[in-house]
Amino acid sequence: MQEAGNKKPKDIKNRICPYAGKCGGCDYQGVDYSEQLKKKQKLVQSLLGEFGKPEPIIGMKQEKNYRNKVHAVFDHDKKGNAICGVYEKKSHRVVNIEQCMIEDEKADAIILSVKSLLKSFKIKTFDEDTGYGLLRHVLVRTGHATGQILVVLVLSSPVLPSKNNFVKALLKLHPEITSIVLNVNDRRTSMVLGDKESVLYGKGYIEDVLCGLRFHISPKSFYQVNPVQTEVLYRKAMEYAGLTGKECVVDAYSGIGTIGLIAAGSAAKVISVELNKDAVRDAISNARINSIKNVQFYQKDASDFLVEMAGQNAACDVVFMDPPRAGSTETFMSSVVSLAPKRIVYVSCDPQTLARDLKFFTKKGYAVKKICPVDMFPFTEKVEVITLLQRVK
Ligand code: SAH
Repeated sequence: MQEAGNKKPKDIKNRICPYAGKCGGCDYQGVDYSEQLKKKQKLVQSLLGEFGKPEPIIGMKQEKNYRNKVHAVFDHDKKGNAICGVYEKKSHRVVNIEQCMIEDEKADAIILSVKSLLKSFKIKTFDEDTGYGLLRHVLVRTGHATGQILVVLVLSSPVLPSKNNFVKALLKLHPEITSIVLNVNDRRTSMVLGDKESVLYGKGYIEDVLCGLRFHISPKSFYQVNPVQTEVLYRKAMEYAGLTGKECVVDAYSGIGTIGLIAAGSAAKVISVELNKDAVRDAISNARINSIKNVQFYQKDASDFLVEMAGQNAACDVVFMDPPRAGSTETFMSSVVSLAPKRIVYVSCDPQTLARDLKFFTKKGYAVKKICPVDMFPFTEKVEVITLLQRVK
């Protein structure tokens, strides 16, 4: 495997990052932030304009270094020196990155320190072609409000030589680290994390605070990557839901339970459904940490679960849904329609699949009342959109 090199490509004007055009991360290098927001507004207007006029996109005041989750892939150059960073666009060549303008700065520094320790600990980086070597990835998660930092070392085998000394050396360089986890990924896969995990230091997870609640986040659970904008997004979701304290609420694709737990204070009852086991485990402890008793959690496929709910004719006044990029399914949406909630708050990270799903709902007795883009991912083309649907029949 080869290093992609750090020569500046000539094709991008006004770039401010030396890796622009090489790494697959930013689409909008050298584009003013206000211009980026305009482009996203235009995109949302073109994809969703047929359902109503989107509100002005909510951007960030400080749009750099927002990512609380930083992932670096480890490799070596032709001379055998360790390199780490991200894959070059559409390839498996690693761009050796020292600093990234959208990632948390402390996380970047920790990753570089891990790299600097490898030689003295005789730890070899993993080679995807030959399958030799130990260190595959490093994942760092930071709690924006708590300052907690979790470092996950992803290895190809469970044995980290001089484990205790390695942990000590890393903590000496970065006393701000609150937990270190060893994750074993011994498969030929593009997935970063494997199934086996052991805690080398601290609690094995981080906590963060959002909208006044405390959340416990494990290495494998989904957690929004931009904590500042997540609060903005969730506040908008609550505004759209218009809860009065009496409602039965469904929080589907609920991750670690954030939206449902925030809604619980203004609802009679919340039912949360999520597929990922670790996320549901986190969600249950999040209810406990925050002394919230009116939320039930189910670890299931959201579509299967909604079919069951519809079969039982369960009470449901408001549905929050926040599916992955692929959007929801007709099975899920048909069941929502038969449960007939007054309002549906749809949070989407892909306006294209959102448009498809809104088309479905608007044919089945719902009208789109509000659309609001939120910029969760500055410097990338990605845009988060939150939509309010109301039952008209
Ligand atoms: N609402 C959460 C998570 C949104 S991300 C938040 O704001 O943080 C989407 C979530 O959907 C992920 O946690 C993912 O694990 C979950 N998911 C993906 N497919 C699913 C399915 N078929 N059924 C239920 N949950 C699913």
